[in-house]
Amino acid sequence: MAGCAAALALSRQGLAVDLFEAVAEPQPIGAGLLLQPTGQQVLQALGLLEPLLGLGAKVDRLFGDTPSGRTVLDMSYHRFSPQAYGLGVQRGALMGVLWQALRASEVNWRCGVAASRFEQEGEQVRLFAGETALGSYAALLLANGSFSKLREQMQVKQSARVFPYGALWTVLPRPAQFPELDLRQRFRGARQMLGLMPVGRNFGDAPEAAAGVNLFWSLPLAEVQGWHAAAGAQGLARLKQEMVDLLPLCEPLLGGLQDPAQLRQARYADVQMAHWHQGRVLAIGDCGHGMSPQLGQGANLALIDAHVLAGLCAGQNQGQLDWPALLARYSRERRAHLRFYSQASRGLTPMFQSNQRLAPFLRDRFFGWGGRLPLVHQQSIATLSGVKTGWLLGRLKL
Ligand SMILES: Cc1cc2nc3c(=O)[nH]c(=O)nc-3n(C[C@H](O)[C@H](O)[C@H](O)COP(=O)(O)OP(=O)(O)OC[C@H]3O[C@@H](n4cnc5c(N)ncnc54)[C@H](O)[C@@H]3O)c2cc1C
Repeated sequence: MAGCAAALALSRQGLAVDLFEAVAEPQPIGAGLLLQPTGQQVLQALGLLEPLLGLGAKVDRLFGDTPSGRTVLDMSYHRFSPQAYGLGVQRGALMGVLWQALRASEVNWRCGVAASRFEQEGEQVRLFAGETALGSYAALLLANGSFSKLREQMQVKQSARVFPYGALWTVLPRPAQFPELDLRQRFRGARQMLGLMPVGRNFGDAPEAAAGVNLFWSLPLAEVQGWHAAAGAQGLARLKQEMVDLLPLCEPLLGGLQDPAQLRQARYADVQMAHWHQGRVLAIGDCGHGMSPQLGQGANLALIDAHVLAGLCAGQNQGQLDWPALLARYSRERRAHLRFYSQASRGLTPMFQSNQRLAPFLRDRFFGWGGRLPLVHQQSIATLSGVKTGWLLGRLKL
């Protein structure tokens, strides 16, 4: 998403862009995601929000509770701003819309090319795939996700810590009688978590195709990685029973889950960098600031990165761009926003996905209660909407 969006946004500023994607035929990995008002704004600027609205599902309320009925989360975008909503989308829908625009653009894209190293020399960055030189460029954007080896070649202080929990997730067709849901979560401590979210139709689906519901099931990382090998049909039946025990209303939906292969594995890392540029190289998206999905921000941040970078290039002649200065400016502009979401996600994750007991205990005691206070609700939903650049004050201007 970061790479596609940046390539598109920069090419719309008149820059010549080459895009290299490792996968020969790009397909969405994973299931669905929630696009926040900030991400929607970037897509609007790219002219891509309209087609996505025709596919996705608007989400107003986020509700999560415990099996004993204690409310943990109850937030509404409407209470933040009457026009605001989250947009639940299938990854395939977002990728389909982005790739359709890329194919129609001036971007010179090549799939099935895995870049492996770069060299900065004078006013050029040379990019390689193994021993093959891919080209010499005035600047290089690294947008290859949290587990990027290219990022490790940047001489910038950085760390990438894999979270101890991951997830199994998929999109299932919504049965005809299934209740109309917004985002619905159920937690047992921080060890069990099930999430359901409407995500509408996939790219290329017929208008009458059943709308999808995203299903998220949290698991310790070791179990995620071994799950498909160990599961088989019995493992799937056991898993479905655990899901129903935690949230009985999901039972009719699970009729659509027949094969372990429908479940995709997700793992995530907390990526931190002192800054995101080094000379003519910049890390964007998860590559620069991967985080856990608890706040539903990763794809949004990737889209904002692209938008901000393109904004810095606006109105300038490609030949005259001072890339090292421009990328350093990008790091300064993005710092407050990215730092806030990185800290917030790191702070929240142990409350929702960990072996800890105290953190979820405090969550269950205080989150629901705190959320009823107007000021806390305002702050929480502003955080979710993706607009915060500081713990109390500070709003992102796009
Ligand atoms: C369970 C889960 C739920 C999530 N929910 C949400 C949500 O609700 N809202 C939200 O905003 N975000 C969410 N996210 C986060 C979101 O998925 C990521 O932040 C987003 O995908 C990051 O996009 P990216 O383009 O930076 O990286 P990626 O999506 O990781 O893309 C990296 C790309 O680089 C390619 N690549 C890799 N190596 C190379 C190479 N050497 N050369 C060339 N190409 C290469 C890959 O094939 C891939 O296409 C969620 C994530 C997970 C795991």
